[in-house]
Amino acid sequence: MIKKTLVLLTVVLLTFSLIGCTGTGSKDVNTDVLVIGGGGAGLVAAIEAASNGAKVILVEKMAAVGGNTIISATGITASDTVLHTQAGIPFTKADHFKRTMDSSKNLANAELVDILVNSSSDAIDWLIELGVELKVRSEAEPFWIVPVEGHYGAQLVGAFVKEAQKHQNLEIRTNTKALELITKDGAVVGAKVDNKGEVYNINAKAVIMATGGLNNNPEMIAQYNAKYANIHTEMTTPGATGDGIIMGLTVNADLVDMEYFQVRPLSSNGNWYHERIVTTEDVSGIVVNINGERFTNETAAPRTLAAEILKQPEATGYIIFDSRVLATPDGKKAFGLGKGVQADSIEELAALINIDAEVLKKTVEDYNNGIDPFGRTVLGKIIEGPYVAVKTLPSNHYTMGGLKVNANAQVIDKNNKPIAGLYAAGEVMGGLYGDGRVAGNNTLDDIVFGKIAGANAAK
Ligand code: ADP
Repeated sequence: MIKKTLVLLTVVLLTFSLIGCTGTGSKDVNTDVLVIGGGGAGLVAAIEAASNGAKVILVEKMAAVGGNTIISATGITASDTVLHTQAGIPFTKADHFKRTMDSSKNLANAELVDILVNSSSDAIDWLIELGVELKVRSEAEPFWIVPVEGHYGAQLVGAFVKEAQKHQNLEIRTNTKALELITKDGAVVGAKVDNKGEVYNINAKAVIMATGGLNNNPEMIAQYNAKYANIHTEMTTPGATGDGIIMGLTVNADLVDMEYFQVRPLSSNGNWYHERIVTTEDVSGIVVNINGERFTNETAAPRTLAAEILKQPEATGYIIFDSRVLATPDGKKAFGLGKGVQADSIEELAALINIDAEVLKKTVEDYNNGIDPFGRTVLGKIIEGPYVAVKTLPSNHYTMGGLKVNANAQVIDKNNKPIAGLYAAGEVMGGLYGDGRVAGNNTLDDIVFGKIAGANAAK
């Protein structure tokens, strides 16, 4: 009888708890570390926290991990690495530090840059350990560490995922979006998440924000830098919508360098084209609007050129150049990837891009005759057919500002105090780039600050 009652009681309790789960939609869980975002920084942070013994849940709002890290095309920047020694090509920590600070116009946080630079050789050792085959790109570009073959970002994310899978205390939940942070007595203690409409809480001892940048949120970009209103979003994956900044602000996080974005004025179909196709002396081209008119000095700084194109109808431009630019590697790239069109005369070219032929003809003639109301001092000539047009949709490439962090990757609040329980790594954090980014420092940031955040969150 007692046994029967116990069984009945157990069944009732089990049923009750199941109803509790499904009936309220609640599947709240507890973990040690919650990582928000499954790009490079989030995966590294999760691996590091799990390696330090913490129970880790990583949530990724998209159907798959990877973020913008997976579309990183070239490689990583690192200094004084084993690969430099092997190749006999030097790129020192001092070079790396200077290059980073100079690019930032000395606006980067020197303490964070110092950590980044000093950890870069360890980061390369770790990637080699994970099986990523790398080499120094060339004597001319000794800062670039690139894959021996294949696509960099895909190999990087592949290696991180493989490593993450080795940890039984690390669970990745895709299609799971962090909606808001949960706080208790001023500390961050988890997040409310949404998995395909099912909303629940993940309670954690620490949260690592690794949500990437704002590249896919033009309204938010314009909020921080009005001249980039209308910016196109071709160079990003969809998940980069600034969620980490928005969530950070709700817990009084401070932000740094939010007005700086890396933009590409000459860009289409997710690619960008070197500005030299419109800036090289003698042979270079021009940018016209959809009415066939020039409107700016194409040799201005890339950000200025981008802002000027964005002011034009449909925030669109056409790059016009001749066969001499087409013969250069940059010209070929723009023509090929930008799905350019070519014709033997400017009038025929105009017809191909639906622009008034007379207007485009006059624009090109004026330019060839040195008539330039925009203050351009380096004028080329568009005189040798075939003539080429490539559409450009200026695009945001990298979010340089973000959550303010200290050397422990703790997020800092507006009173300059660390927010208990909240860490950040990767593109969502600010401080490493100021006004200009050294290409390749970004996935280094994912690894270095991902590891710092992961280790500290696991403590
Ligand atoms: P990083 O290089 O800093 O890792 P990525 O762009 O590679 O940046 O990765 C950021 C990831 O965070 C993307 O996969 C993105 O989809 C994800 N993400 C962004 N916001 C959220 C959110 N609210 N909840 C869960 N994942 C998010």
